[in-house]
Amino acid sequence: MEIKKSSKLLNVCYDIRGPVLKAANAMEELGHRIIKLNIGNPAPFGFEAPQEILADVIANLPNAVGYCDSKGLFAARKAIVQYYQQKGLFGVEVGDVYVGNGVSELIVMAMQALLNNGDEMLIPAPDYPLWTAAVTLSGGTPVHYLCDEGNNWYPDLADIEAKITPNTRGIVIINPNNPTGAVYPKPVLEGIVAIARRHNLIIFADEIYDKILYDEAQHTSIATLAEDLLCITFNGLSKSYRVAGFRSGWLMVSGNKKRATDYIEGLDMLASMRLCANVQAQFAIQTALGGYQSINDLIRPGGRLYEQRELAWRMLNDIPGVSCTKPEGALYLFPRLDPAVYPIEDDQQFILDFLQAEKVLLVQGTGFNWPHTDHFRVVFLPHTDELREAISRLSRFLATLRTK
Ligand code: PLP
Repeated sequence: MEIKKSSKLLNVCYDIRGPVLKAANAMEELGHRIIKLNIGNPAPFGFEAPQEILADVIANLPNAVGYCDSKGLFAARKAIVQYYQQKGLFGVEVGDVYVGNGVSELIVMAMQALLNNGDEMLIPAPDYPLWTAAVTLSGGTPVHYLCDEGNNWYPDLADIEAKITPNTRGIVIINPNNPTGAVYPKPVLEGIVAIARRHNLIIFADEIYDKILYDEAQHTSIATLAEDLLCITFNGLSKSYRVAGFRSGWLMVSGNKKRATDYIEGLDMLASMRLCANVQAQFAIQTALGGYQSINDLIRPGGRLYEQRELAWRMLNDIPGVSCTKPEGALYLFPRLDPAVYPIEDDQQFILDFLQAEKVLLVQGTGFNWPHTDHFRVVFLPHTDELREAISRLSRFLATLRTK
């Protein structure tokens, strides 16, 4: 008899590493060189980790051979508390921080500790798809609210409110956003907080890109605007410090914790069951968060990320029938293909056809739970030469599809 996967996985998808990556890997095995613009992993594109972080991890390796507290090393958690105090969040203490093996582990943990079958969670469309997958895996029902491309990809507050039911438990925001690059201004965040307040919702804020901001963008942690509500804020070392392989992130519980003692007990239980997070990487957290922030050199004019964003954004908008909002943060572009010019019915097939023809890997918009087949995501981590090459190939491929 066939051995089948759990039915809990039936509606779980994670297309960033899904069928399109399998196809690219199969082509690589045949000897093709593929330009992979599918994953936001800075190191393979030549981004170096800050030296002092590496030095810390190496020096502390002999001290990191045992398990630590399930919630993480004290010094790391204390530094995280201080970081949020600097961002204007008060009333938090070391016990409110859980260090995890990346934000990924903590997203799954936060959903598993909360959701019962049929509970609903509001998630942005488009989203970073782990959120939808984690809710589904936990027995919850993801309900997607729209972000409005015509309004800088900010969340559509009316759509959020319209989708609330008696089963809604919380609202997820990803700010700065993956895949759109939107950074939400304070009034938008205040609007979300007002809705959460009216309907008694928990706010889950994924802020892993809070230091990757371009031009004049300012980041506000939504938790600072919602000290009367329960907020769970996520962040980590993977992106701002270019050490995604260290698997180090954290979750901070803030606001109305008194109402949530039972949920917090659930979080403690799940943290204990996986014993602790990778200890070596935790030695880097305190050093990472304090002092000179090398990411700032990459995001200002002349810096690598800034210039790569400029080039990719300009080149994409120069392709007939392609339009792309300029990202204010993060590492991605989420361009639109005008359906009148490119009538794409199956966007995964579009990505596979482009891969086959031009040896460049992108990810389809529906992989980010976008409800239409007219978008795709580009990672702008490669050097400008490689980005120029990849987008030129896209332009050439799209010319073969144009209907007018
Ligand atoms: N959240 C967002 C919005 C992301 O884009 C990513 C990774 O791409 C993660 C979380 C996962 O990060 P980590 O490496 O900390 O697991």
